[in-house]
Amino acid sequence: MALERTFSMIKPDATRRNITGKIVDRLESAGLRVVAQKRILMSKATAEAFYAVHRERPFFQELTEFMSSGPVVVQVLEGENAVLKNREVMGATDPSKADPGTIRADFAESIGENSVHGSDAPETAAEEIAFFFSGSEITG
Ligand code: GDP
Repeated sequence: MALERTFSMIKPDATRRNITGKIVDRLESAGLRVVAQKRILMSKATAEAFYAVHRERPFFQELTEFMSSGPVVVQVLEGENAVLKNREVMGATDPSKADPGTIRADFAESIGENSVHGSDAPETAAEEIAFFFSGSEITG
């Protein structure tokens, strides 16, 4: 199985509670390698562009206000089956439905403020990585 890359983001509820390291530990312990990482503050416009696929959803304003309310840590993760593996480590969107031991079960505050984002497919991973990183910022 070839190495795969996925895009990950540690959300403002987690950076606010200073648990970035705890979340990175979960990712690394699952066999994912952080091959790029930076802490940024998204503008509302950037959050709207990143989440454009959700613009018709009723929670779009709440989501983009939250995502631009504080720093996020954007990451490129590498590993075998990285997209699926990261989704498994994250757990379900709604923390009350997430499997025990997942990041969202253990750290998320609500369905909206759920600590992490992870790409849902290799194609979206490539798009989301390119949204935030240039090639020279990624090094295995
Ligand atoms: P994900 O791929 O598990 O992150 O879930 P989705 O792609 O369905 O939704 C994207 C993000 O929108 C989620 O991670 C949440 O932060 C937010 N979100 C999803 N559903 C809801 C909801 O019902 N209410 C609110 N406030 N936010 C939501």
